[in-house]
Amino acid sequence: MILIDGKKIAAELRKELKEEVSNLKIKYKKVPGLSVILIGDLAPSQIYVKNKEKSAIEVGLKSNIIKYPDTVKEKVILDKIDELNKDETVSGILVQLPLPNHIDKQKVIEMIDPLKDVDGFHPINVGNLSSGYQSMIPCTPLGCYLLIKNIESDLNGKKAVIIGRSNLNGKPMAQLLLKENCTVTITHSKTKDLKAECLAADIVVAAVGIPELVKRDWIKKDAIVIDVGINKTDKGIVGDVAFDEVSKNAKAITPVPGGVGPMTIACLLKNTIECFKRSQVL
Ligand code: NAP
Repeated sequence: MILIDGKKIAAELRKELKEEVSNLKIKYKKVPGLSVILIGDLAPSQIYVKNKEKSAIEVGLKSNIIKYPDTVKEKVILDKIDELNKDETVSGILVQLPLPNHIDKQKVIEMIDPLKDVDGFHPINVGNLSSGYQSMIPCTPLGCYLLIKNIESDLNGKKAVIIGRSNLNGKPMAQLLLKENCTVTITHSKTKDLKAECLAADIVVAAVGIPELVKRDWIKKDAIVIDVGINKTDKGIVGDVAFDEVSKNAKAITPVPGGVGPMTIACLLKNTIECFKRSQVL
């Protein structure tokens, strides 16, 4: 069994990105900039944003966090995004989710210039990804994709089962694997026999939010298992996969924590640099 060490792979990716940033600095006399809008004081959001900033600075990006209280008016956020869209020193814009109820998430996402959309949530990027065109790819599925490719470079004809159909994870993950010529099944809460679907899969990506849903007898021998889930339980943070038992069957598996999580942040940095590079050739 291969333990897919997301921490190590993410560290290697960050090292490559750091080198790339210093080359870009020499070539363009400037560095990519990431602006993050953080609304309210939800503890997990504060931690995510802090980690994003720390990693951005480590690879040499310019990082800017713009904080608002959770009473902020929607228009203030939309105006700020408009300002960042026009600011040439800003390569990527991220609005940390979730948003307070009075702010329309769709309006906010659609306000971000698709060329600065480091999260890949803008409908233009979603459409481009599903059409197989160049697009910004959401960070977590991009991270999962890189982990899978790290184990198996040729995915032609593999059967992939994605558990969960969120815009954030399941759907873009399916598009990425489809592009690699996998036969992809997207499952969800109304799927009739999830175990049978998983048992047929060479690759299982679980992005559900149910602690240890995926059991050992759901996974065929030699499958690759990617666990996106982050679930707080009495025994600490666990994934959507029962790691101890599934790891006995799988060919390769990501742990939680230390699997997909570190890749998500590394891919955010990668996307910021990608936005910068695209803006330089326009
Ligand atoms: P989400 O938006 O809540 O979507 C969950 C999906 O799981 C939905 O499509 C839902 O189906 C499906 N589902 C629920 N119960 C199911 C069941 N019994 N069988 C099969 N499918 C079921 O979740 P998300 O935002 O994608 O996040 C999923 C997990 O990933 C969470 O634990 C989250 O914390 C974690 N996460 C981790 C990272 C990271 O960096 N590692 C990043 C983002 C999220 P319906 O559509 O039918 O409701």
